[in-house]
Amino acid sequence: MIKVARKDKSKFIDDKGITRIKTVPDQQKMERHKELDYYKDVLYQCGKCGTCRTGYQEKGWLRVCPSGEFGKFEAFYLGGKNLLAWAVTSDQLKWTKNLANIFYQCSVCLACTQQCQIPEIHSYAGEWLMAMREKAVQKGLGPMPEQKKYSEHVIREYNPYMEKQKDRTNWLPSNIKQSQDAKLAYFVGCTTSYREQDIAINTAEILNALQVDFKILNDEHCCGSPVYMTGQTEKAKEIAKVNVDLFKKEGIEKIITSCAGCYRMLKETYLKKFGLEHGIEILHLPEFILEKINNKEIEFNNNLNMKITYHDPCHIGRHMGIYEPPREVLKSIPGISLIEMERNRQNAWCCGSGGGVRSAFKDFSSFAANERIEEAIETTAEALVSVCPFCINQFKANIENNSIKTYDISELINKAIKG
Ligand code: SF4
Ligand code: SF4
Repeated sequence: MIKVARKDKSKFIDDKGITRIKTVPDQQKMERHKELDYYKDVLYQCGKCGTCRTGYQEKGWLRVCPSGEFGKFEAFYLGGKNLLAWAVTSDQLKWTKNLANIFYQCSVCLACTQQCQIPEIHSYAGEWLMAMREKAVQKGLGPMPEQKKYSEHVIREYNPYMEKQKDRTNWLPSNIKQSQDAKLAYFVGCTTSYREQDIAINTAEILNALQVDFKILNDEHCCGSPVYMTGQTEKAKEIAKVNVDLFKKEGIEKIITSCAGCYRMLKETYLKKFGLEHGIEILHLPEFILEKINNKEIEFNNNLNMKITYHDPCHIGRHMGIYEPPREVLKSIPGISLIEMERNRQNAWCCGSGGGVRSAFKDFSSFAANERIEEAIETTAEALVSVCPFCINQFKANIENNSIKTYDISELINKAIKG
């Protein structure tokens, strides 16, 4: 019989969870962003019930795990991953290339964690999914070759797109007004700077239209997300330090970003994982715009007359708990009618671009994107709107025959302001 070790009792939540074991401690006492061994005692809470495969919506139970639905094997769902993680921490299983692949063929979208009724898994499974990647890197089994290639480029040229740092602000039109004394920076991010430059232009134009004093940091580096999400924590921390030093040198007190991945890194990972206390207020563009709407500091002059649907990016939604601000902004724009997809908010189906899967597992990534695009088309909306350049770029790459349009929220806000 397999013995389950519960040595560190402080990690269990008292009298909660299906086992109702008295050793389960207060959820608040458990820490996040720890190494794999820290979670060893709670990994075996999984009852292998399969609840994490689906989320309950109006139409019933709908699938939520792209990894499991594509992999079609228990190991790819969270239940299987929990068991594998427990087995390696308990020396019941050896690390192999295949084991590492299972943990990398997962977009770390965290839809599974939202379904699990066991408090420790619900709250912390995302932590050990990441810790398993960290461990794979320590064992020399991660990241995947494609991820390694782009990570090396991030170290050389500060972006994962094989582009030059000197070209980072090529998108910047000469008519954009900046103030070099500004305490507010627009952190553009790599995907926006090199692949979705319209988002950068629209955001900068919005800031100008609202007469916000801001500046773009020419020496901005990748936020480190593509490196961090593939388990290369130490490298990502080095990248983060360069950015934090730059923010300090430039006297930055507030940052606006239009990227979900950058937002999560700057607002949470830099502080909680890397211990880089920067003291800077970080806002995602929709949060900033909502503030302006609530203070009646923004005027929309144009009726967009559009039926849209909204995709929750994982890094803003499940990772950071931001579901309503983008919706509130969209609903405030004249002429926008928002129809929800069946799977939304906590249950949203991932676009399939995050967690390094788009570079390393192209078929899996397209499978996830196509399922989301089909779901958007089913709503009869004319456009699929989101608040992340990586999601938008993924949709553009996978939408066929112009079956639905896709927009970042910045484009709609800017159009509505311009009149
Ligand atoms: S992770 Fe939670 S929902 Fe999934 S199989 Fe285990 S106990 Fe069930
Ligand atoms: S994080 Fe997303 S892709 Fe990975 S197991 Fe959970 S639901 Fe599936």
